[in-house]
Amino acid sequence: MGFSTDAIHAGQKPDLETGAVITPVYMTSTYAQDELGVNKGLTYGRTHNFTRAAYEKNIAVLEKGKYGIAFSSGVASVNALMSLVKAGDHVIVGDNVYGGTYRLLELVMKDYGIEFSWIDTSDAANLPKALKPNTKMVMIETPTNPVLTLTDIKATADFAKANNLISVVDNTFMSPYFQNPLTFGIDIVLHSATKYINGHSDIIGGILVTSSDKIYERLKYIQNAAGAIPSPFDCWLCLRSTKTLAVRMDRHNYNAIKVAEYLEKHPKVEKVIYPGLKSHAQHKLAKKQMRGFGGMVSFVTKNHEQALSFFRKVKVFTLAESLGGVESLVCHPATMTHASVPKEKRESFGLTDNLIRLSVGIEDIEDLIADIDQALS
Ligand SMILES: *Cc1c(COP(=O)(O)O)cnc(C)c1O
Repeated sequence: MGFSTDAIHAGQKPDLETGAVITPVYMTSTYAQDELGVNKGLTYGRTHNFTRAAYEKNIAVLEKGKYGIAFSSGVASVNALMSLVKAGDHVIVGDNVYGGTYRLLELVMKDYGIEFSWIDTSDAANLPKALKPNTKMVMIETPTNPVLTLTDIKATADFAKANNLISVVDNTFMSPYFQNPLTFGIDIVLHSATKYINGHSDIIGGILVTSSDKIYERLKYIQNAAGAIPSPFDCWLCLRSTKTLAVRMDRHNYNAIKVAEYLEKHPKVEKVIYPGLKSHAQHKLAKKQMRGFGGMVSFVTKNHEQALSFFRKVKVFTLAESLGGVESLVCHPATMTHASVPKEKRESFGLTDNLIRLSVGIEDIEDLIADIDQALS
C-alpha cells in the first residue's frame, strides 16, 4: 500500500462491538476478568491499551518496521533506549543531537556508569575512530537541529553492523513520510511525536520503531516496567494526525522551499540553510536518503540588530520553542533551544547569535513570505 493508504488504515479496524470506524479512546485503567486466571489478554492500563496498540502499529507500518513502542515524550523514548545498554558500556552519539538528549545522556545517564562519545557523525570517517572495545550503540540525528547537517544513514548502519552495535536514528525532523532509516539497515528509529507525527502542537509524545524481535521484547518490557506510557487520548490524537501526515508534509516542504528560495535572494540575509537548496553542502546526500527536505529552514542575518528586529516584527510566525506543527514558528536557538550549550561549542558547528530557525507551517505561502518580508525590512 502507499503511504497515505497505510497512514489512514494501518493498525485500525472498525470497532468489534459497535463498528465505529475510528478507533475509540479506551479510557480505562483496568479490565474485567472472566474468572481467576481467565481474561481477554488485557489486564491493566499501563500494560495494555487498544488505542495505544493501534497507534503503535500505525507508526510501525509507516516507518517500514514491525513494532512500535510509544512513550509519554521523545526524551522518555531516549531514556527507554538506555535500557538496551548497561553500566560499563560505551555509546557513540552525534555531537549536535537534540539538547534534551544531550542533557539526559551526559548529565543523568553518565552517572549510571554509561560512557558517551560525542562526535561529528556528518563525516562517516569519524565513526571508527570513536570505537572502543565496550561500544554497544551508535545514535545519530539527521538532519540536526538547527544547522541541518546530515549524516549518511547507510554508512552509519553498515558501521554498526560490522561492529555489532545497535544503531539508532532520531528521525523527528523528517517524519516517516520523508525518511525511513530502517530501510537502510538501522535497528531503531526514534521520534518525538510532539513534532510532525502529531503535528498540531497539542501533545507531548515519543515513539520507537524496530523490526528486531529481541530489541522489541526488551523495549516493550521497559515500557511496562518503567511506565512512561502516553495517555490513550494522546495516542488517539496521534492516530488522528497521521491520517494527514502526507498532505501536511508535502505542504511543509512546498512552503519551506519557497521560504528558503526567498531568503537566499534577500540582501539582508548572509546565509540560508535548507537541505533542499543546491547551496546546502550535503544536498546530494539529502537527495539520496530523503524523499523531501522538510519544513525546517535556518538563516543567518548580516548583523545582530537585524536578527533582533526580525523577532520583534514577525506577526504570522510565532516566537516559540518546538516545531513541526501546522502553524509557523520562529526561534532563536542561541538563547532558546541551545542556551545551555557553551557559546564556543555552539559556534563550532555554525550556531551563531545571528542564526534564526523557522518551523515553516502550512499556512498560505503568500502570507508567510509577506510576513518575512516586512520583518526583514
Ligand atoms: C523535541 C525533540 C526531542 C524530544 O522530544 P520531546 O517530545 O520534547 O520529549 C527529541 N529529538 C528531537 C530531534 C526533537 O526535536
